[in-house]
Amino acid sequence: MIPSEDLLPLLKKHFGYETFRPLQREIMAAILGRRDTLAILPTGAGKSLCYQLPALARDGVTLVISPLIALMKDQVDQLLAAGVAATFLNSTLAPEENRHRLEEIRSGNCKLVYLAPERLMSGDFLSVVRSWNVTALAVDEAHCISEWGHDFRPEYRRLKELRHALPGVPVIALTATATPQVREDILRQLALRDPAVFLASFNRPNLNYLVEPKQDAASRLVAFIKSRSNESGIVYAQSRKRTEELAASLRDAGIPAACYHAGLEAPERARNQEAFLRDEIRVICATVAFGMGINKPDVRFVIHADLPKNLEGYYQETGRAGRDGLPADCLLLFSRSDIVKNLRFLDQMSDEQVRENARHQLETMADFAESDACRRVGLLGYFGESWTMENCGACDNCLSPRETWDATVETQKILSCVLRVKQAGGPSVGIRHLADILAGSRAEKVLARNHDKLSTYGIGKEHSAAKWTEIARQLARKGCLAVDGGNYPTVSVSTEGMSILRERLPVTLSRLMVAEKASAARA
Ligand code: ADP
Ligand code: ZN
Repeated sequence: MIPSEDLLPLLKKHFGYETFRPLQREIMAAILGRRDTLAILPTGAGKSLCYQLPALARDGVTLVISPLIALMKDQVDQLLAAGVAATFLNSTLAPEENRHRLEEIRSGNCKLVYLAPERLMSGDFLSVVRSWNVTALAVDEAHCISEWGHDFRPEYRRLKELRHALPGVPVIALTATATPQVREDILRQLALRDPAVFLASFNRPNLNYLVEPKQDAASRLVAFIKSRSNESGIVYAQSRKRTEELAASLRDAGIPAACYHAGLEAPERARNQEAFLRDEIRVICATVAFGMGINKPDVRFVIHADLPKNLEGYYQETGRAGRDGLPADCLLLFSRSDIVKNLRFLDQMSDEQVRENARHQLETMADFAESDACRRVGLLGYFGESWTMENCGACDNCLSPRETWDATVETQKILSCVLRVKQAGGPSVGIRHLADILAGSRAEKVLARNHDKLSTYGIGKEHSAAKWTEIARQLARKGCLAVDGGNYPTVSVSTEGMSILRERLPVTLSRLMVAEKASAARA
């Protein structure tokens, strides 16, 4: 084994790079020191090298667990081209080829062996692995082991057995998923011992984050993409059908585009992906099925035509833009009706815990979209990173701060209405119900509970119920209204809201991003 200082010549020789990227050297030193290691680095940071290079610097073979069968061949081909003895084992190999490879590995001719996790489940594979001289175990995309992650793979749970089969072999887990919950889960599930944990900043300084109200998504896409000649990008949409419709609209407007989703036959999916990687088409309209492991460095924009289900997914998907370090734009088209649609979908989930979790994630996502604060601060805060920069200079809210307005009267109306409802007895109400009372709606649920008899009924006729809903949501984000979760989230006045009422404190809100007309039309 060689000390980590001597890795530089190997880096140059095999990969042609002159320097290490941030944390790469430290991670490699930990691995070469035989420590269990968890490396959490954003996409594009260069995680693969962290286990590939140490594999070359020591005896024996490094096993690499990777969830993406489709990418294994590419990864191994690249290594072979760099003069690294590597191979892979997965279900796509013919038995004869499989046998041949096992023999090669056993005789010590391979430095890196890529394994699909499902391989671990088959027969006596674990005892086969024990007969090899395994000196390190790398778990790529380690978040797949966690149900809290965005890409849970049950097969990953079997890694524990592999770990037991190879006691004393150090494990390096790598992921781009940084939520504290997932991090904990990886440490626990893989039973990492006294691990060295490396957590890089998740800030992507070259990405611009933009959120716009969604009206006619297809024409907005066409205009946005047409304004950038020849740049390529990804459009994410919620459903298969919608990816197809959007791709068709783009093609109609003369923009070469194709779609990608799990409903396409494998050859067509592969063809579309290839065409995108080779710049034969400019835009790929995709569901979330597209992207993990796709290494196209010059994606100049990622557009979310529909609201992502959670902030984690949003971060991963936007993270596919600008991997070459050059500026790239991330545009989210946001409409509240997307939330409603998603909620309806969630209602069909049977497992209450899962449903609650999903609902909470959706709310966090919606809060991010509606927020008037720096997008970067919001995003990094979600990953537990506190970012202290007054103006990031690369998000819509920092570049063009919203106009503000004096919402003191509106706030008083909302808060006192919540108190009146409470005094009247019966169960608490949600934001929509509250908005209906204020706007003087004759909605059945209002009448049924005699809320039209409240002194605050109709005291807010100057605004639509939709507008009251928006204002109340803003107040909830500011902490003046407390919203408690559950299937039917209800509101109450928070301590802060109480002092606003009592001390008649002024309240300033920013102008809503969602166009007034559009939201009124949906109400
Ligand atoms: P990740 O798995 O973290 O998303 P990759 O391992 O795919 O990232 O690396 C992203 C890109 O960065 C690859 O093209 C890789 O060759 C390149 N890269 C990795 N390390 C270095 C380095 N030290 N110097 C220059 N380029 C690097
Ligand atoms: Zn900002």
